[in-house]
Amino acid sequence: MRVPTCTVQATPVAGGIAIGRVMRIHGEVRPVHQVTIDPADIPAELERFHAALDLTRDQLQKLQNKLREKLHDSEAGIFDAHLLLVEDKTMTMEVERGISEELVDAETAVFRAVDKFAAAFSAVEDVYLRERAGDIRDVGQRIADNLSSAGVQEFAYDEPRIVIAATLTPSETVGMDREKVLGFAVETGSATSHTAILARSLQLPAVVGLSRELLDSLTVADKIIVDGFSGKVIVNPDPGTEEAYRVKKREADDIFRQLRGESELHAVTTDGFVIEIVANVEAQEDYSEIRKNGANGIGLFRTEFLFMDDRHLPDEDEQFEIYKKLMISAGNDPVTIRTMDIGGDKLNSGIVRTEEQNPFLGLRGIRLCLRERRDLFETQLRALMRAGVHGNMQIMLPMISCMDELLETKKIIAGLKVELTVRGVPFADSIPLGVMIETPSAAMTADRFALEADFFSIGSNDLIQYTIAADRSNERVAHLYRPGHPAILRLIRFTVEEALKQNIPVAVCGQIAEDTLMIPFLVGLGVNELSMSPVAMPLIKKLIRSLSMHECGELAAKAMQCDNSGDVMELSRDMIRRCAPELLDF
Ligand code: PEP
Ligand code: MG
Repeated sequence: MRVPTCTVQATPVAGGIAIGRVMRIHGEVRPVHQVTIDPADIPAELERFHAALDLTRDQLQKLQNKLREKLHDSEAGIFDAHLLLVEDKTMTMEVERGISEELVDAETAVFRAVDKFAAAFSAVEDVYLRERAGDIRDVGQRIADNLSSAGVQEFAYDEPRIVIAATLTPSETVGMDREKVLGFAVETGSATSHTAILARSLQLPAVVGLSRELLDSLTVADKIIVDGFSGKVIVNPDPGTEEAYRVKKREADDIFRQLRGESELHAVTTDGFVIEIVANVEAQEDYSEIRKNGANGIGLFRTEFLFMDDRHLPDEDEQFEIYKKLMISAGNDPVTIRTMDIGGDKLNSGIVRTEEQNPFLGLRGIRLCLRERRDLFETQLRALMRAGVHGNMQIMLPMISCMDELLETKKIIAGLKVELTVRGVPFADSIPLGVMIETPSAAMTADRFALEADFFSIGSNDLIQYTIAADRSNERVAHLYRPGHPAILRLIRFTVEEALKQNIPVAVCGQIAEDTLMIPFLVGLGVNELSMSPVAMPLIKKLIRSLSMHECGELAAKAMQCDNSGDVMELSRDMIRRCAPELLDF
């Protein structure tokens, strides 16, 4: 039965409009009715189970191959464990036993087997092994989906679909076939969660905060509209509404096409202030494509995504090849590579084996590198220093909260230089070393850091969460997680002022760098560089070309005296309404 027509409000996290039928993926194991069977049905049930198992194996292999084409081999290894489970005889025998001895249908037997094995894994101490319970549930769900007549069989549809899910991990998002997916509507997450970041780099409209009730009631027969600009989700729209959204989508596509045609133009304000526009990259993307969107370099390469497969960590040579390829493809354009920011929500149980109560406040980023995984840190730094000879590289450190972390890293780099020299290995001798300003302590001591760092890059996604004390991926505090909070503007102002005194550049590489309403403030506060997902560049460049630096400065000064972010955003909305009304809705 189809869900009645309705409109719900979710949170927009990636712009654009998607219209299509839904495809449910992943999700936790759904409760199923326990279905008993007649002994005469045993052979048919066994056959159904094996057919679903074969289909599952096939899908996993295809997914793995797709990942291999798109990314580095190590990411494709994500599905190794799933394939192993499909091949696992103990698991298969347990399902067969359920069907033949307990006389239940294949779905029930699969879920019983999954529960049994997952429970055993969940009970062990070791974090790595405990996480295998998740793999077992994933595979079980996939087999069950393939058993059901309205089964998921993702990517097997003849038409592209909108993915709906309770949660979507970064690796699942990156593994999706861009041709078969129109957009995402997910229950959990936020604009700065890493899945949303990936949706933007795949240029797919996305919303989060979809209610569990709606999520559970949607079936493959339901059509939805995802408005990634406003956050609206319209279920089974009437023909008039659907047509109105098709028109809106065409208009948005036209504007984007037109903007892309101007992407070569520089981001220079009406009074001549130039802002560098560079790209955020999450995987090994094609730099020439990024450049076509208007990038003049890479402002943030989130290298931790190379370390997300807990069964394979890229060694020094593998990393060297990846960084070298990127450097060569970027030519003379600057490439800022961030050392691995493992921790928080980006976990790898092969690297971090201790579970923390507050991982975002735990041993994350530079802390982990210096205290527990100096081996991995040194390997990465060595690979970077070697690749640095092939282009214009900068190295950036994440999660810096005190000066000691920067000084200790400098000592490590000095030691590695000696080591590489002794070994006769060529390396770049003077790669600029910058710090991310993403903790309030780093921002408030920017005057000291400016004496030691070669550049700053403001990681607003984290700076906001740590300043306002609102978890960036928790939708329950999303109402507090406000980029326009005057405290954030004041921290940015202080950071920029102190950098200017020492003549070092300041970039912003968090989500606010592509938030139209935040742009007037960033321009007004004197930020030199904005790093964002490539898809956002043409729009942001156009907006900057419509603004006056002088007026933005006055606006920022006013905003810092506001009591709340609502008033701050209203100031910005007024300015954009005056200077670039056609961009207000994006
Ligand atoms: C940030 O915190 O703003 C940032 C750019 O890094 P990440 O989103 O990867 O934490
Ligand atoms: Mg960060």
